[in-house]
Amino acid sequence: MISALSHRKDEIVNELELICQAALFAAQRHQGQKRRGEMDTPYLNHLAEVAAYAALETKGCDAALIAACWLHDTIEDTATTRQELEEYFGSEITGLVLEATDDMNLPEAERRRIQEDEAPHKSTRAKILKIADKLSNVRKMTEDPSAAWSPQQCLDYAEWAERVVSGLRGKAPVLEAKFDTAMTLARRRFAP
Ligand code: ZN
Repeated sequence: MISALSHRKDEIVNELELICQAALFAAQRHQGQKRRGEMDTPYLNHLAEVAAYAALETKGCDAALIAACWLHDTIEDTATTRQELEEYFGSEITGLVLEATDDMNLPEAERRRIQEDEAPHKSTRAKILKIADKLSNVRKMTEDPSAAWSPQQCLDYAEWAERVVSGLRGKAPVLEAKFDTAMTLARRRFAP
């Protein structure tokens, strides 16, 4: 599935190449996936957004975090395994991805509750990644909601994301402010 362009961790020469390889790996693994919504947005857009938000928050000084942002949904949403990520990107990046990965064997309500409970105990970098993820999701849902979701379901999702973010606060002031703005817009659109 991986083309000859993807290198294993001991072949990656520097941080710029690391981020390019992570983006390429994500593009290959998420190929054909779309975001929820009516605009047919490629799933890759979400990964690019999360990476860009984390780069903004960290002023571009944390290449491993940016690589992890590109990869953060590979275990959850593709056939990628933890072992593969370790082989291609090493244990530091894999650990960050795992901090942002739900146990997909559990029902959704249980996964949501675990995210709320575990948010305060995440590492600083995982907190930045997860706030970037929630910011991307709430903004996208507000701009382009799925026809399959009622306004109340959208509001419920946004308010759950807000509770998760409340447990992640303190490490990402730029993204926390952006999230607050996104919540204002979500309430304006979906609240009765
Ligand atoms: Zn995500």
